[in-house]
Amino acid sequence: MRTYPFPCPVCGRKKDYLLTELFEGAILICPYCKLTLTLHGHMWEDVRKEIQKLDEDK
Ligand SMILES: [Zn+2]
Repeated sequence: MRTYPFPCPVCGRKKDYLLTELFEGAILICPYCKLTLTLHGHMWEDVRKEIQKLDEDK
């Protein structure tokens, strides 16, 4: 399963998410500081670009 290490914008720690868990409007909960965030807007755009880069590395 392919994963992407998403860095928490508050505490900066990374959690590996399955790529299938990352989509526009996904609710992500940081396991360290319990921040709940919705993946959308420019944050989603950044993640989407990073995922595309991962795909190009095949
Ligand atoms: Zn956090």
